[in-house]
Amino acid sequence: MRYIWNKLYQTLYYFGVYCKFWPGPKRYMLSELGLDSKHFNQAIAKIALDLQQHNYEAYIVGGALRDLLCDATIKPKDFDIVTSALPQQVKRCFSRSRVIGKRFKIVHVPVVKDIVEVSTFRGKSSWLSRWRGARYQNNIYGSLEQDVWRRDFTANALYYNVKTSEVVDFVGGVEHIKAKKLVMIGDCAKRFKEDPVRILRALRFTAKTGFEISDTMKKEIQKKKVLLQQVSKDRLLLELVKLFSHGHCKKSMQLLQDFHCLSILFPGFGRMPLNFNRIQPFWDRAFANIDHHYRQKKRLSSSFLFAILLWPIFETQKKKIKRINIFQYKKLVNRVLKFESRYIAIPKKLQEAIKELWLLQYTFETKTTPFGPDRVRQARFHYAYELLMIRAKSDERLAEKALMWQPKRENHS
Ligand code: ATP
Ligand code: MG
Repeated sequence: MRYIWNKLYQTLYYFGVYCKFWPGPKRYMLSELGLDSKHFNQAIAKIALDLQQHNYEAYIVGGALRDLLCDATIKPKDFDIVTSALPQQVKRCFSRSRVIGKRFKIVHVPVVKDIVEVSTFRGKSSWLSRWRGARYQNNIYGSLEQDVWRRDFTANALYYNVKTSEVVDFVGGVEHIKAKKLVMIGDCAKRFKEDPVRILRALRFTAKTGFEISDTMKKEIQKKKVLLQQVSKDRLLLELVKLFSHGHCKKSMQLLQDFHCLSILFPGFGRMPLNFNRIQPFWDRAFANIDHHYRQKKRLSSSFLFAILLWPIFETQKKKIKRINIFQYKKLVNRVLKFESRYIAIPKKLQEAIKELWLLQYTFETKTTPFGPDRVRQARFHYAYELLMIRAKSDERLAEKALMWQPKRENHS
């Protein structure tokens, strides 16, 4: 049934193109766009080729193409493949692959040290699937011509055919990338309502690529941001970490603040009067530090990120208690973390790690003799000490403490 509907859709779509009711896709040779096949990870390109050899359609799609078209000198980390093969058919083509996901089934195919996500073309959901619920609605398979309308932004909807070296563009993505514009596919209001996570994605791509967003999109972000509170907590955690993991933390934070998204994600920012003039230099230093780690190819520690993000809330609460003792301090840490995980999942393990970083701040401030070398070598100490250093930049008393706690260089001679 699906197969017949997909064929019918394809026929009608190209009939409309033939009759000039709507424009057809533009096709570019890779060389026309200033790229060549060497820009793509060969092991990953081979997955697309293997699928094509099994007579399925397969394309490299999404962020890798967008990022390469913005700047051909960068090396994309993440390649996404889309295919006409159903998840079980993809699984049969690659012996070590795994089908994952409930919301939308995808296949993880291991390559060298990485995992590539292979998804099946998505189709438009029918009234029947809508009635059967989100799971059915999301697992509707379609054709290339339908898949494109399910993607979020035009810049993310380019399809690269590895075999023919052709890039297929249904929605003007190439032009928009050249003009540095982030354009939503379809109506912004509808697409943000359908999936509010697209708001965070819009901010992420703006921070990463410097693309401009239209006034209409800006207005819709303002209007729909509150819907983020209805999104699954786990998805929000993933998106938030992604927002800060690509080397543009400062810009990402600025955008979250400009669109007043912080108080939507973390209620503490909306509940109490925070002195942003004081917080800003702290965050600027902290995020510059995270971006520095990124340039050194270090993975972002989520606990460090959250310890920094939520520190101003914790510190403001802490200052309300005069001569705080360790019991009050611990209680406050627990209270803040519980309160701030109302909309974003902060799993137990992550909470424990954040707690440790914050508790070490208490130790740094109150203990008069530093730890021995074994404790100092632990990763937790390292991150906690970095947090202390960032705080110390605007507090002389802490600067002295930071000096005292400075790990001694080990003598290897
Ligand atoms: P990144 O460089 O961070 O990987 P990306 O654009 O590739 O960016 P992914 O999360 O890897 O982002 O998603 C791959 C592609 O899937 C996107 O480019 C987009 O076309 C589509 N996509 C992902 N999430 C959504 C969404 N919420 N709504 C619509 N399309 C989406
Ligand atoms: Mg991607």
